Parts: sequence; structure tokens; C-alpha cells
Amino acid sequence: MSVRAEQYAAEVISREQLSPHLVRVVLDVPAFASTGIPDEWVGLVVPGQFQSRYYTVRSAVPHGEAFRLTLDIVVHDTGLVTEWAARQEIVGETVTITEPKGSFEQPADAGWLMLVGDLTALPAMARIASEASVPTRIWAEVPDVDELAGYLPDSADVTWTAGSGEGLAATVEGLEWPEGEGYFWMAGESSQMRSIRKHLMRERRLSSHAYDVMGYWRVSTGRQPRAVDPGPVYRAGKAAGLTDEQIWQNYDEAAER
Ligand SMILES: Cc1cc2nc3c(=O)[nH]c(=O)nc-3n(C[C@H](O)[C@H](O)[C@H](O)COP(=O)(O)OP(=O)(O)OC[C@H]3O[C@@H](n4cnc5c(N)ncnc54)[C@H](O)[C@@H]3O)c2cc1C
Repeated sequence: MSVRAEQYAAEVISREQLSPHLVRVVLDVPAFASTGIPDEWVGLVVPGQFQSRYYTVRSAVPHGEAFRLTLDIVVHDTGLVTEWAARQEIVGETVTITEPKGSFEQPADAGWLMLVGDLTALPAMARIASEASVPTRIWAEVPDVDELAGYLPDSADVTWTAGSGEGLAATVEGLEWPEGEGYFWMAGESSQMRSIRKHLMRERRLSSHAYDVMGYWRVSTGRQPRAVDPGPVYRAGKAAGLTDEQIWQNYDEAAER
């Protein structure tokens, strides 16, 4: 079985600076089939590069014969996509995206949602919350709290903290959990996510179906040598009957090799 994802050419329609660290890039893609999963992501290859980086589809709406995709890209110190997205002149350029994939899987009996993440997780948390049918609480740790205060939907009960995500493990350890069954979703820096998974498994004793914790980026020095596409790891894991928890552990290990 081939695990190579489909690729699509996409044109950059607009670029908007949402906050000092977040840039909105809107793309037109002639062929795009959303998974409908609210944390779906695509691989993005920018001009002159062949490596991809992964970005959440903040929204995908039909536009004429194309689809209009919104990606919200964190611009940090240095990085392949960071350096591209930081430029004003990207409008009109052609990029490549890969077919979307998602991992959010809320159990049918979940009566509430808890979402926790750093700035890279904000687009997914916004889309999940805007499509949620149960009471939703969000803890967002971002460097630009003032500028992003209106980013998340009013329907969610949001706690903002200023930071780059380094406080997320402590946030999760201090959470008061609602009564009854629910679903916990979280994303951020990989080593933090690993310690949070251990906490959820060992201290909270959550069933693996009750949570999804994803490492979205890794602390390293300089440009990452390569990013590992979560899509094939996810598909292979699902085909092998692994839980999301096992799949994301495999992903973290693959990304560190
Ligand atoms: C499923 C999935 C969905 C994602 N969705 C989004 C999204 O919607 N928006 C978004 O911005 N990111 C998202 N990410 C994270 C994004 O793919 C990474 O942050 C990616 O490494 C950024 O690429 P780059 O080319 O800018 O930097 P790279 O070339 O990958 O890295 C360069 C340097 O920057 C550091 N670095 C990488 N990311 C960050 C960061 N966020 N903050 C600080 N330092 C960093 C690295 O440690 C490295 O030293 C997602 C990741 C996954 C797996």
C-alpha cells in the first residue's frame, strides 16, 4: 500500500499579520476534499523548498471552482516556512499542499470538551470550538494575548495565559476536571506533550479514547533537518489498529530519529 499523500498546487491569495507572531495566509486550491475533522492539517511546501511543514486548515470554503483555504502560521525566530511567511511579497506565489488528515475523535458520549495549547494549536482549537456541540473550555498560552483576544469563538470559555507554551504542563496538572465523560485535546511542543500524556495516563488514568495529545513542533537549534509527515504515521497506525495515543507516541519517536 502506498502511503504517499496526494499533492496539490495552491495559489497565495492574501497574507495578513494577525499579531506579531501569527500570519494568516489564504490559498486557492483547485482540488481539495476536506476530511471534515476539525483539527485537520496539510503539509505545506513553499517555493524553492522540497521539505514540508504541517499546518492546520483553519477553514476550507468553496470558492468558484476552487477551495479557499486559510492557514494561520506562527512566525518564530528562524525556520523554513517562518522565513517565507514573514515576507510581504508572497501573494501570487504558488505553493504545494498535501491532502488533509485529522486526528480529533470525540467519543459519542462526550458531554464536554477541554482544549489546551500554545500558539501553533490556536488554529485547531478555534476550528474545533467553532464546530463543537458540547460545552467547551480552552486554555491558550500565547505570546500575543492582547492582539489575539478575539481569535477564539465566543461560545468557548477561554483562559488566556501569556507565554510560549512552556507553562502548559503545569496548567494541565492544575486543571479542575468536569464531571462525567468528555474529551481532552491538546497540542504544542513535543517534550511537553510527552510529559502531559504520562500525566493523563498515570495520574488521571484517562482511557486512550478520552484524549488526543499531539507534539506539533520540537525545540532544536537552527532549521529542523526534516519534518516527519504525521499523515502516513497516522494512516499506518490506524491500519494496524493502534490507538491515537500509540500513534502519536510513534510519531514523536519518528520525529526524533
Ligand atoms: C498536525 C500539525 C498541525 C500544525 N498546525 C500548525 C498551525 O496551524 N500553525 C503553526 O504555526 N504551526 C503548526 N504546526 C507546527 C509547525 O508545523 C512547526 O512549528 C514547524 O516546525 C514550523 O516550521 P518552520 O519551517 O517555521 O520552522 P522549522 O524549520 O521547522 O524549525 C526551525 C527552528 O524553529 C524551531 N521551531 C519550530 N516551530 C516553532 C514554534 N512554533 N515556536 C518556536 N520555535 C519553533 C525549531 O525548534 C527549530 O529550531 C503544526 C504541526 C503539526 C504536526
